[in-house]
Amino acid sequence: EQDVGEYQKSLAIRVSGFDVPRPIKTFEDSGFSLELMKAISKQAYEKPTPIQCQALPIVLSGRDIIGIAKTGSGKTAAFMLPVIVHIMDQPELQKEEGPIGVICAPTRELAHQIYLEAKKFAKSHGIRVAAVYGGMSKLDQFKELKAGCEIVVATPGRLIDMLKMKALTMLRATYLVLDEADRMFDLGFEPQIRSIVGQIRPDRQTLLFSATMPRKVEKLAREILTDPIRVTVGEVG
Ligand code: ADP
Ligand code: MG
Repeated sequence: EQDVGEYQKSLAIRVSGFDVPRPIKTFEDSGFSLELMKAISKQAYEKPTPIQCQALPIVLSGRDIIGIAKTGSGKTAAFMLPVIVHIMDQPELQKEEGPIGVICAPTRELAHQIYLEAKKFAKSHGIRVAAVYGGMSKLDQFKELKAGCEIVVATPGRLIDMLKMKALTMLRATYLVLDEADRMFDLGFEPQIRSIVGQIRPDRQTLLFSATMPRKVEKLAREILTDPIRVTVGEVG
């Protein structure tokens, strides 16, 4: 117990919530498959960053999380590695279609970066990733979604468009990530986010990442997360 505390302190991590899993020190501690460990080594990630040390065991245990850490701290892998595990853990995929992991980001540039990161880990697992954001033809995106995917990386506005066009359903979605939540609010996406969340089953796992936690984001988090653990790294928050 004491040891966990000291370790968290050394990582400049603050945590609140019930039954917080111990932070990991190495990627091996996560119990990742050989396949995923290979994909991690390919990225030359030697050890998890502080947010990853604490977020990975929380997310892998199925808990909801609020992750607050500044840009460049490695938040993407903190939700991307567990979504691969989450998808591989699904019982033989039912008749249902549509993404299992839904990742929302504020801008097309960010969504594209996350998409590229997803591809790095998804490919070797046969997991299909679809990118849904402005600047690409809606017809092409419609076709890509119709072909099927397990992960969708999207900006809120375009994802709503695709849902309206019935390019995808959220029937299989059980893992929702809201990345850069503060920026999504700054860009006025709150109604779209609420609409998307409302279309995903309430027993989903929800992850919210943000560099700051303004009151409006705090309120949304209270409404859409279940018993979340809050992890703050460094000075922010
Ligand atoms: P954030 O979303 O917190 O701004 P990113 O997920 O974009 O940060 O990561 C920032 C950079 O750090 C990326 O170039 C990413 O590839 C790299 N990175 C992530 N995790 C690790 C790690 N464990 N070891 C080394 N580099 C990492
Ligand atoms: Mg990020």
